[in-house]
Amino acid sequence: MAITASIGFPRMGPRRELKRMVEQFWQGKIEEDELMARAAELRRLRWQVQKDHGVTWMVANDFSFYDHVLDAACLFQVVPDRFQGLAANSLQQYFAMARGTQDATALEMTKWFDTNYHYLVPELKPDQVFTLGVNKPLNEYLEAKALGFDTVPQLIGPITFLKLSKVVGAKADALALLPSLIPAYQAWLASLHEAGVAWVQLDEPALVLDLSDAERQAFVDAYAALAKADRPNILVATYFGSLGDNLATALELPVEGLHLDLVRGSDALRHVHALGWPKGRRLSLGVIDGRNVWRADLDTAFAHLEQGVHLAGAEHVMVAPSCSLLHVPWDVELETDMDPEIRSWLAFALQKLDEMELLRRALDEGRQACEAELEANRSLLASRRGSARLNREDVRARLEDAKTWDLNRQSPHAVRKEKQQARFNLPLLPTTTIGSFPQTQAVRDARAKWRKGEWSADQYEAYLRGEIKRWIDLQEEIGLDVLVHGEFERTDMVEYFGEMLDGFVFTKHGWVQSYGSRCVKPPIIFGDVARPEAMTVRWSTYAQSLTDKPVKGMLTGPVTILQWSFVRDDIPRAETCRQIALAIRDEVLDLEAAGIGMIQIDEPALREGLPLRRAEWQAYLDWAVECFRIASSGVRDETQIHTHMCYAEFHDIMPAIQAMDADVISIETSRSHMELLRAFEDFRYENDIGPGVYDIHSPRVPSVEEMVQLLRRAAEVIRPEQLWVNPDCGLKTRGEPETVAALRNMVSAAQEMRASL
Ligand code: GLN
Ligand code: ZN
Repeated sequence: MAITASIGFPRMGPRRELKRMVEQFWQGKIEEDELMARAAELRRLRWQVQKDHGVTWMVANDFSFYDHVLDAACLFQVVPDRFQGLAANSLQQYFAMARGTQDATALEMTKWFDTNYHYLVPELKPDQVFTLGVNKPLNEYLEAKALGFDTVPQLIGPITFLKLSKVVGAKADALALLPSLIPAYQAWLASLHEAGVAWVQLDEPALVLDLSDAERQAFVDAYAALAKADRPNILVATYFGSLGDNLATALELPVEGLHLDLVRGSDALRHVHALGWPKGRRLSLGVIDGRNVWRADLDTAFAHLEQGVHLAGAEHVMVAPSCSLLHVPWDVELETDMDPEIRSWLAFALQKLDEMELLRRALDEGRQACEAELEANRSLLASRRGSARLNREDVRARLEDAKTWDLNRQSPHAVRKEKQQARFNLPLLPTTTIGSFPQTQAVRDARAKWRKGEWSADQYEAYLRGEIKRWIDLQEEIGLDVLVHGEFERTDMVEYFGEMLDGFVFTKHGWVQSYGSRCVKPPIIFGDVARPEAMTVRWSTYAQSLTDKPVKGMLTGPVTILQWSFVRDDIPRAETCRQIALAIRDEVLDLEAAGIGMIQIDEPALREGLPLRRAEWQAYLDWAVECFRIASSGVRDETQIHTHMCYAEFHDIMPAIQAMDADVISIETSRSHMELLRAFEDFRYENDIGPGVYDIHSPRVPSVEEMVQLLRRAAEVIRPEQLWVNPDCGLKTRGEPETVAALRNMVSAAQEMRASL
């Protein structure tokens, strides 16, 4: 009988139970005992649900109070010195590493491959010692066993663990620590073996990355050493892409099973066939998309499975999602308010388990036994494909038309800059902000009243106008040169636009973990995207009517809207992105026609959209830049286009940044002490730049002097004529008093700096 595997399951629970309990614990509202009891209950529920949906390969240890990479660091007692004052292995120490304390900054957080999940980066010493600490994977395995569930302990594999870690205090490669780490993994495997564990799952998504020969060799060495231990069978799980040039290495590892992502690497089995599948090895086939929310094409999935059976034999095949189901929401049945037709096209974690179980039955009992269900799947997909709600002729025709457009601005930047200067007459080092102002409790209360129907739309609108007016006055009084309306009408920079664009739906419970207790509810793009009417013009024109200073119109860019949504799987991402770009272009032109002279199109997600493999970067950057230019190139020379990006490594994408040709780019920089500007210097970036001169992540008000210092440093790298002065992004998360005080100091710093030039 074939096996259905879940690889990993959503952690939060159907109603974000994990978030609630953890946050209540942090707030001191519940004690540790209660947290532990509620967590155990959630783990039980997760196993029970998987079992009820036919899963036979359920993992233990995919539960985490914060993050599975942090858990792995704790398992091997990788705890930086600054947390050693806290009780070893305590929850206090664990959460301190995750969130920081008054005296100890948290571990760095960064994105888990190309997902929106963030992990904590383990900090290794150059002479790091790894010892087995509290055996959470074993404990959860035993906990499950006591409840009657047979589980597979899961852990991040040694190479991926080291690749995601950083060595502090010396220039050293984390992989050099492999010889020290291996004995700890061996000890861990031995402990499981002794407890009677039959299988473990070691996740090695690093196998889908570009690897050096040395790194491939490290895989071979590491697994050769692990194979020698007294141990359970090992399944190595790879996902988020195809193995490509690492496939031979993966097949060479002396383990008993391998999981492949057949959604991102649909031709994987052809390559496996060419190299030969090692006899007797278990083959886990990731045929159900663990990264997206659509019902699967079961015929295609079944064809993969049959190929797999052909390669490995029916008794060795596992039916699985492409990756852990961590990245999709829990259950689409909870979406009772959603349009039923669209809902019928969707599969969240539970529906994906059902799809896997159906495929298993088809494998075991023969396709005929499931023909009715398979036929239902076919007609569902056909109805989705043919739905008039998906495909809009008007959008397609415009897109065709757009292919003939000249996506250059009328004149080069130098010419535009002169015309814009004549229009706006800004001082050297103009001051501005990135767009949002504090979303205080009052703003949130107002929105809640309107959503509940306690306030009419007019009342809510009047309140927002009041806030805009108050902040326009404040900005004038502070002395900023370029103003913003404050984004009070937005809860989220993608949701706000998605709600007004055709082709999007929203969920009520479609939460996905982003980091720790934080979840996001990505919009779902189901059809061709179009803009029925203007989205921001009335806010921007109202704000502009209150002042003689320029007010920036504020938009989210097409790549960011795409990147932070679940996207269609029936057309290429680039195509959806172009559709969004056209909608944003319309908005840009409406803003311009309404007299808005500066328009900011935020693209914080542009860099994170880069594919995992370098060979695919250029193709992505080409369409991403094209989309920005579709959105921005229609305006007159006198209209100033701004963009914004968050903190990122810019060096390797500078040609793309230049090709976007925004008149001004603001970037989140302050934490890097302007180091980030080097990329712009090295590339001789020509357009204007606003590096953030203060970190907004704490309520601390920066002094004039420290901002002058930073501006001096910036002016050493970038010509003063190119420089703008602004804070980092995200003022919406700050309180009002510190925001006003910090901006006053920032304006003084700009004045001081101007005087000294
Ligand atoms: N305009 C947005 C803001 O200021 C930009 C957010 C971001 O950088 N992610 O909040
Ligand atoms: Zn930002």
